[in-house]
Amino acid sequence: MIPYGRQDISEDDIAAVRAVLQSDFLTQGPAIERFERAVAEHCGARHAIAVANATAALHIACLALDLGPGDLAWTSPNTFVASANCARYCGADVDFVDIDPVSWNLSPGLLAQRLDEAQARGRLPKVLVPVHFSGQSCDMEEIGRLAREYGVAVLEDASHAIGASFLNSPVGSCTHSECAVFSFHPVKIVTTGEGGVIVTNRDDLAARLLRLRSHGITRDASVMTEKNPGPWYYEQRELGYNYRMTDIQAALGASQMTRLETFVTRRRQLAARYDTLLAGLPIQLPVQDIRSQSSWHLYVVRLHLDQISRSHRQIFDALRAAGIGANLHYIPVHLQPYYRTLGFSPGHCPEAERYYGEAISLPLYPALNEADQDYIATTLHGLLT
Ligand SMILES: *Cc1c(COP(=O)(O)O)cnc(C)c1O
Repeated sequence: MIPYGRQDISEDDIAAVRAVLQSDFLTQGPAIERFERAVAEHCGARHAIAVANATAALHIACLALDLGPGDLAWTSPNTFVASANCARYCGADVDFVDIDPVSWNLSPGLLAQRLDEAQARGRLPKVLVPVHFSGQSCDMEEIGRLAREYGVAVLEDASHAIGASFLNSPVGSCTHSECAVFSFHPVKIVTTGEGGVIVTNRDDLAARLLRLRSHGITRDASVMTEKNPGPWYYEQRELGYNYRMTDIQAALGASQMTRLETFVTRRRQLAARYDTLLAGLPIQLPVQDIRSQSSWHLYVVRLHLDQISRSHRQIFDALRAAGIGANLHYIPVHLQPYYRTLGFSPGHCPEAERYYGEAISLPLYPALNEADQDYIATTLHGLLT
């Protein structure tokens, strides 16, 4: 089976991991800071905080933004469940703003309308979690403008989008947000096995995130309530977690970051090649905003079912039967049984629901070769014509 995504591990990556295994620190050592610096420098952000995974990153980012019971967070329905769950972990309510039919990202037009209505009803969200779906940045200029106008904090779920940019600034520069989160799961652009990073330009958020990642504990004497009783002393200032990343993972991440440009360039090449190979078929190819440079985590096509004799399911099954690891991103989050128990039902986000009935993610990863890609395209031509 040609997988839909796959990590790319070099001899240098392996050497970097081996070096940590032979060093003094498997965790809480110098590799963490090296990795954090690499991510912060790439983004042009002041701070990067590495944690166990992007789900943990989203969780403590919500906490650092003071999201709690009685508050509300909004996100896109076309995302992985973690983008919404992070608010639920904090006891906050969640709602979904439907997607744009062209970009498949949260619609800024709908967001404007929903914010206006929410203000009139007196229940604005405290946090907005836009998701840069497939690696294409949301319209952060417009989202940032609306967020400032209505006093909403923006937490970017940039899990797909390290290496992407919008209006020539890297995703993660946090120009229009409080902070952004990256995932380093093996199917993402850069991997640490499991891993997440929060980037921010705000010193106060960074300090809070560092504390929340490690039990809510500080070792900074200047902020302690007790005046330093001895060298063993630390203080727990709030309820935090053990969300730390290991140095083993960070060393892999730092080594992988040196190849970020190579990875993204190869993904862009393959995406452009798909565009050519699939042109003319009864499908919607991914449309790119002229202001955005995608990192191409996913290559998603949408079937024009009225022009195709087979169903979405039949095409999906035929691809899998042909050894092509087609996938579907995403099941609209509000239709998950858990979110239905919270009162959501079909019809809440009609655009994301329609999209779900037509979308297919095709394999895309740096080591995908041209012959396999040609085979995928030929198979699709056979199924769609
Ligand atoms: C992968 C992903 C996550 C979760 O990332 P983990 O590192 O696996 O916790 C969150 N949001 C989106 C959009 C993702 O794709």
